[in-house]
Amino acid sequence: MGRYIQANCRLCRTEKTKLFLKGDRCRSDKCPIHRKKNAPGRGPKVRMRKVSNYGVQLREKQKLKRSYGMLEKQFKIFFDKANKMKGITGENLFALLERRLDNMVYRMHFANSRKQARQIVTHGHVLVNKKRVSIPSYLVKESDEIEIIEKSKNMTVVKEGLKQFTSTGVMPWLEVDPDKVWGKVMAIPRRNDITDMRDINEQLIVELYSK
Ligand code: SF4
Repeated sequence: MGRYIQANCRLCRTEKTKLFLKGDRCRSDKCPIHRKKNAPGRGPKVRMRKVSNYGVQLREKQKLKRSYGMLEKQFKIFFDKANKMKGITGENLFALLERRLDNMVYRMHFANSRKQARQIVTHGHVLVNKKRVSIPSYLVKESDEIEIIEKSKNMTVVKEGLKQFTSTGVMPWLEVDPDKVWGKVMAIPRRNDITDMRDINEQLIVELYSK
């Protein structure tokens, strides 16, 4: 299965925004995006070129794709699927991305980053409706129940993730019982509900792929 091997923080610095790829560190003062303002490999004196329309669209797509920890091929499959669905393509794309099992495990705070959530899923620690599912891109549905298998509930990665549940709570479309390490998808979020992705302009991504 393909995955990024470029250092996470470099990806954020390239996109000039926090993509929250490293869990706790992303919420602390240690996040280098606050200290290193230049893109990786660029000194402070390098003059910035004017970015073309294509460049702006490309960066927007990279930001979204990297936020969800996906590679190009799979992201494009998701886009094509969103494009074939009824309704607005950009909104459909967000709904599909949010339905990914690794994303739901992250959103339920059973892991501190989508990358950790992906590992938990691929290593077989996750049940969906009481059945083990080890495919990170598996699409969950409304009313699905997700839990960590009994013997893995005390894993450090899970406990660390649940600390965030205590401090920030959970997205409104989810219900989570941190003691049981169990959660339920109460609804599939609409675009406006996904508040931490407000900065992404999905229309630019639609335009990029429509060329
Ligand atoms: Fe991105 Fe997190 Fe690294 Fe900050 S700490 S640059 S948000 S991966």
